[in-house]
Amino acid sequence: MPVFIEHIPAEPEPGKLYISMQFETAVHLCACGCGAKVVTPFGPNDWTLTFDGTVSLRPSVGNGQQRCRSHYYVRSDRIDWLPRISAAATRVASSRDRAAHIEAIPQPLAGQASWWRRIWNRMRRSFGTSRSKRDE
Ligand SMILES: [Zn+2]
Repeated sequence: MPVFIEHIPAEPEPGKLYISMQFETAVHLCACGCGAKVVTPFGPNDWTLTFDGTVSLRPSVGNGQQRCRSHYYVRSDRIDWLPRISAAATRVASSRDRAAHIEAIPQPLAGQASWWRRIWNRMRRSFGTSRSKRDE
């Protein structure tokens, strides 16, 4: 069940998908019931949220970092289960994700950069400023 909110609650309730457009991210507790908090940021290299009265997330949510290794689609407010993720698949997926993120950082598209990329850019800018001040 989707819940549209501004700020993600510190203690999400099970069975709810918290969606924050402001922070361009969604949070839910792992659908298997293990209690792990699953964060799915939106963006070209992250997840796509579709809302047509019901909520769907693409791609699938793979909790390979969690002990349960659950893997599922959030499709039309429902959980469609996929086979559990093996340790090998997790390694492949996380190195692919990392590569995608590293590529995306130097050239974020205006308006499409997610909040952490904006913060990262801001940090880089302020580092650059302090360094040039010291050099003068
Ligand atoms: Zn789980």
